[in-house]
Amino acid sequence: MTSTTQLTGRVIFQGDPGYNVARKNWDPRTDRFPKVFVFAQRTKDVVNAIKWARENHVPIRPRGGRHSLEGNFSQVNGGIVIDVSDINHIRLDKVNGTATIGTGNRVGRIAHTLARQGFIMPFGDSPSVGLGILPGGGIGPYQRTTGLISDNLLELEMVDANGKVIRANKSRNADLFWATQGGGGGNFGVYTQYKLKVPPAPANATVFSITWPWDQFEEVFKTWQVWAPAVNDKLGSELSIGPKKGGNVSMLGLFLGPKAEAVRLLTPITSVGTPTKFIQLLPYTQVVRFLLQPDPVLTHPFRSQFSSGFARRPFPEPAIKVMRQFLENIEGKEAGFFFLNWGGAVSRVAPRATAFFWRDPQFYVEWNTSWLKPSESAKNIAIVRNTRQKLQPYIVGSYVNVPDLGIKNPGLAYYGANFFRLRRVKTKYDPDNVFRNPQSIPPLRRP
Ligand SMILES: Cc1cc2nc3c(=O)[nH]c(=O)nc-3n(C[C@H](O)[C@H](O)[C@H](O)COP(=O)(O)OP(=O)(O)OC[C@H]3O[C@@H](n4cnc5c(N)ncnc54)[C@H](O)[C@@H]3O)c2cc1C
Repeated sequence: MTSTTQLTGRVIFQGDPGYNVARKNWDPRTDRFPKVFVFAQRTKDVVNAIKWARENHVPIRPRGGRHSLEGNFSQVNGGIVIDVSDINHIRLDKVNGTATIGTGNRVGRIAHTLARQGFIMPFGDSPSVGLGILPGGGIGPYQRTTGLISDNLLELEMVDANGKVIRANKSRNADLFWATQGGGGGNFGVYTQYKLKVPPAPANATVFSITWPWDQFEEVFKTWQVWAPAVNDKLGSELSIGPKKGGNVSMLGLFLGPKAEAVRLLTPITSVGTPTKFIQLLPYTQVVRFLLQPDPVLTHPFRSQFSSGFARRPFPEPAIKVMRQFLENIEGKEAGFFFLNWGGAVSRVAPRATAFFWRDPQFYVEWNTSWLKPSESAKNIAIVRNTRQKLQPYIVGSYVNVPDLGIKNPGLAYYGANFFRLRRVKTKYDPDNVFRNPQSIPPLRRP
């Protein structure tokens, strides 16, 4: 290779010690063999990596926390993976309520660090998810109070396809800023730093974990889908329904308020069936600990196939029948249906105000299978995709951070009416489509 630019940072070529560990992803289904991994220590290493890749005509994939749910989106055969995970500074400005964070951080690290100092970083259901979560939105039990993680973005730093460092906020490169609030990772360049607005944390908040036997799932779900989207905005609820074989129904979440009020607000759902209830007021640092159960990346054994969508209306009986068929036919410790209530701060932002379009649903729905042996992949992928077809009449869109290669028109599914504007932004910042993956935003064709 003839290159004027040298790779800098921690560089691991195929065949070097550490290559196999560098290839690991949360989902072990990844089967790509990049030529080289660059673990950038600072923005300049990202600049050099992009220039080197362009000079040598090598495909690029940015990577952060390795949680891509289509395991190959942040890996590419024969290419360069620009991994930002060592760029992990966290600088809190208590006076202005902002945090400047390296994009290599995992959400759990930020949430714990800020909680200790009295501030909130919203998060979802896994501490080890990286900041690849942010450009796609970032959903979780806080969102009805704080908005999506991306709604809290104030400023970003990104290295573009020419190796140029770009800063964007509401008034500078405002189109890129807009696109980063929901347009998804891997599309425009390599993000290196975000500045976020961080709200003050309460001294205490109430967490809850309620479980029911599996055979009560229909009555629980029917109540949940009407109750959860309408309940007080400070209550976030994640409902999981496992497989018939070995699974149960569980609802995890928080209420940013006192226990007595939480108990009252939860009564419509806790009075269904025969639940086991844990509802507890905890100091805020323990709230974060309670909700973020450990989720290792390098040793996670299960292969998975996910799909997702949004419901604008409660599921009618035929949709619940589809759920039942799925749950009766799948196995696997981590498989099932997952729901999150929408509304509140998420829905107060207009669909076109940021790239995240799906603002008006009642709830988010996700379903997945999980398995151990590669020989079981085809069967498991097929059942997720068939279930998508059957649920299609009852859902809209799909969440870009939970990608599914089976979706035919991913641009419209992920971005709705914002897709065309996103293509214009893509054309401006990456006209040669240097940053691409199987479902990335295509630039508009040149005239
Ligand atoms: C166990 C688990 C739980 C999850 N829970 C939630 C949840 O509660 N809420 C939620 O919203 N999502 C959740 N997700 C989905 C998660 O948001 C996405 O998988 C997200 O893309 C992961 O980001 P990452 O940095 O960890 O992954 P990576 O695999 O490193 O990257 C994912 C994508 O982002 C791109 N990317 C990463 N870093 C950069 C960068 N610096 N610049 C440009 N592009 C970049 C990659 O190219 C790739 O396309 C979960 C995923 C898993 C596996």
